[in-house]
Amino acid sequence: MNFKVTVLGSGTSTGIPIVGCHCKVCTSKNSKDKRLRASLLIETHEQKILIDSGPDLRYQMLRNQIDNIDAVLYTHFHYDHLGGLDDLRPFSQRRANGLDCWCNEQTYDEILSKYPYLKKVSGNHNLPVIHLKRYEGSLAHGYNIHSFGSLQIKPIRLIHVPPDIVYSVGFVVNERFGYLTDFRIIHDDDLEFLQNLEVLFIGAPLARQHPTHCTHSEALDYFERFKVATGVVGHLAHSLSHDELTEKWSGRAVPAYDGQVFSFAD
Ligand SMILES: [Zn+2]
Ligand SMILES: [Zn+2]
Ligand SMILES: [Zn+2]
Repeated sequence: MNFKVTVLGSGTSTGIPIVGCHCKVCTSKNSKDKRLRASLLIETHEQKILIDSGPDLRYQMLRNQIDNIDAVLYTHFHYDHLGGLDDLRPFSQRRANGLDCWCNEQTYDEILSKYPYLKKVSGNHNLPVIHLKRYEGSLAHGYNIHSFGSLQIKPIRLIHVPPDIVYSVGFVVNERFGYLTDFRIIHDDDLEFLQNLEVLFIGAPLARQHPTHCTHSEALDYFERFKVATGVVGHLAHSLSHDELTEKWSGRAVPAYDGQVFSFAD
């Protein structure tokens, strides 16, 4: 079944340019160096699934002419992935039964504490009508594959912040595309789902060691280890430009950019 993936945001938590920074990447004229906060759209002719609702959501929807969303899947609760939740209001109101937003157990509790009105969906039309749902299965035993029309999406268990244990979720779509944004550790039992993908996206902001993210070289090692056809590195910081990253990785991986599209034909 055909599906298409669009990178809505390729940037790290600040977005690039960073406010007040005048470095060569933040002042670059190349549109591929303008990196909004991390988000992704997965679509078929009948479904549009959004990954995360970051603070750039409204602009991302306008820029990519996305008028409808069928569901939102959250990776985790950090602001750069969640902060645009209230801007889901027009999408939820356009649907007869509101909008289903899926997340893991920890993100579920965090979202309800940050947006307490979601505990009781009311008819108040100033509020988004969101039905918050936990991924089926569990952190302990693994999550089930979720079906959205012809999309079969497998949530992958990730550890993002080892000292405080923030759990993040990655996704494998129709056994062809993988999206692992913020993480340090992949759950051993979920490694098997990442083998031989056509495209694997890994979030790795920097070349140097980072306590809560992969490094660039760790991302490249994963692409080799999993025998991925095309490795994509996103959640990018402002240390290197799109052109510099392309040259540095010389075909072993490609840098993500806003508006980048991957098509998966039958
Ligand atoms: Zn992030
Ligand atoms: Zn900068
Ligand atoms: Zn994060």
